[in-house]
Amino acid sequence: MTMNPKLSKCPTCGSRKLKLVHSDYSTRVQGRAVVVPDLERQECPNCGEVLFDCAAMERLDALRTRKRPASHASR
Ligand SMILES: [Zn+2]
Repeated sequence: MTMNPKLSKCPTCGSRKLKLVHSDYSTRVQGRAVVVPDLERQECPNCGEVLFDCAAMERLDALRTRKRPASHASR
């Protein structure tokens, strides 16, 4: 995973066939599977590298840093 603005070339393998993908993205946050709906990113069909733009990075960061609300056992 690499943080970058939109690229025309894969920073990992140099392929120019980066593909803009706009769909649900599943990842893991602290060991838990999380799906980010409708996340735009670029994927390299050659080496499988996934590149996120700033907006996408922010959404992923928000998931990573989201704290669970302290639950007062209100049941
Ligand atoms: Zn690549």
